[in-house]
Amino acid sequence: MEYPNRICKRCLLKEVDAEYFESLSIYINSIDEDLKVGNVTYKERLDICQECDKLVDGMCSGCGCYVELRGIMKKNKCPYDKWL
Ligand code: SF4
Repeated sequence: MEYPNRICKRCLLKEVDAEYFESLSIYINSIDEDLKVGNVTYKERLDICQECDKLVDGMCSGCGCYVELRGIMKKNKCPYDKWL
């Protein structure tokens, strides 16, 4: 039996909705590089999110953001101080 509407805890958006993630990626790529963290920091942030109970279908239930967008911005931090 398939469960097309089931939620995915601890999944990033790219894992649950590739089409929407493509749109988000285009937006992320358009952001000034000076405003974004580097690849290492970005991966570290997303790794922490993927271990977090607040992550549901790519969205942080603590702040309502897609973590792939929240995590890329230098100025952002985790609302629960799991990453800075
Ligand atoms: S931003 Fe923080 S609270 Fe939200 S999913 Fe990531 S680690 Fe968890």
